[in-house]
Amino acid sequence: MLMLSATTHEGVVVEDFMDRLHAEQDRDQRLVAAMNAASKLAAAQAEISRHTWREPVRHLQARRALQEAEAARAKAFLPSEELGSLARRIIQLRLMDLRRPGGRYGSHRHPLHPEVDSYFDQLAADVAVEVADVAARPGALPSSQTGPRPLAHRRANELPELLELLSAPAVHAVLTRQRDQVREVAADTELFTRQRPDGLLIVQHAASGLRARFELDEAQPGVGRFGSIYAKHYKIASIDPSGAEGRPHLFEGLGIGAMIYRRAAAEYPDVRWRGGTLTEAAHALRRRLHNEDPYIWAAWCQLCDRHFQDGKDWSQRAREDFPTH
Ligand SMILES: [Zn+2]
Repeated sequence: MLMLSATTHEGVVVEDFMDRLHAEQDRDQRLVAAMNAASKLAAAQAEISRHTWREPVRHLQARRALQEAEAARAKAFLPSEELGSLARRIIQLRLMDLRRPGGRYGSHRHPLHPEVDSYFDQLAADVAVEVADVAARPGALPSSQTGPRPLAHRRANELPELLELLSAPAVHAVLTRQRDQVREVAADTELFTRQRPDGLLIVQHAASGLRARFELDEAQPGVGRFGSIYAKHYKIASIDPSGAEGRPHLFEGLGIGAMIYRRAAAEYPDVRWRGGTLTEAAHALRRRLHNEDPYIWAAWCQLCDRHFQDGKDWSQRAREDFPTH
C-alpha cells in the first residue's frame, strides 16, 4: 500500500515509491516469464510421452523440444525470497478478507490479535482454503499498482514453486510466524516521548513506530483542563532518535495505542482527553479507557447515557459525578 506521508520529504517518498514500483513490475514480468516457461515445459513433457522409440524422428524432435523447454525453465529463475514474499502477500490478503469487519471472523482489531488464539488453527485452515481457491482463479495475484498488469490473467497455480508455498501447512507456518512477530513487537514497552514548551507531546512506540500527538486545549470550557489527541500516525513525523519511521500500519489494533495513550495521560495526570473524529478501532480503545476512568477519557458510553438525564456534556461533569463503570 502506498503511504504518502506529509511529514516525510515528498521527494524521498516519491523516489521510494518509484523504486518499489519498478521492483514490482520487474517481478511481475519475471513471474510471467516463469509461468510461460513452466507451461512450455509441461507441454514438452506431455509431447515426449506421446512418442515412443518406435517413432525415432518424432521422438528425437520431442526430446530436443524438451531440452529447450528445460533450458528456458532454468533461465526463468525466480529468487525464492521473491516468491516467498509474493506468497505471504497472497496469504495476508486472504487473512485480511476473513478478518475485516463483516467477514467470517470479522473484527476491528489486528488480523492476528490475541483474540484469534482460541480458533487460530481453524482460521489458518480457512485461510488455506481461500488461498487454494484464489490460486486457481485468474486475477488473484497481487501485481504492481500501476502500469501494465501482466499478472491480471494469470493464476498462481501455473507456477508449481509458488503453489507449494501456498499449501495448507505452508499457510499455517506463515501465519504462525507472523503472529509471533507482531506479538513480540506489541509486547515491547519502550516508548519515545518529545514534549514542546507549549505542552504539545508526541509519544511513539519504539518497536512499531506507532505514534500519537497530544495537545493541551486551554480554551476548552468545562470542569478541569482539557486536551485533544491526534492519532493519524502517518501524518506525524517520527521521533525515533535513529530516524527510523517504523512500519506503524502493520501493528494497528494490537493494543499499542492504549500503551501510548496511557503514557500521555501519565505525563498530564489532570488533563481530560476529549473525543473527536475517531475510527471504529479508536472508538473501542476510547471505550476501554473510559471504563477505567470516565472522568479523564471521553467516549460514547451507554452507562453514562442512562445514568445522566440532565443533557449536560461530558466536559461539564466533575469527577465525583460519574457512576462506577
Ligand atoms: Zn461512561
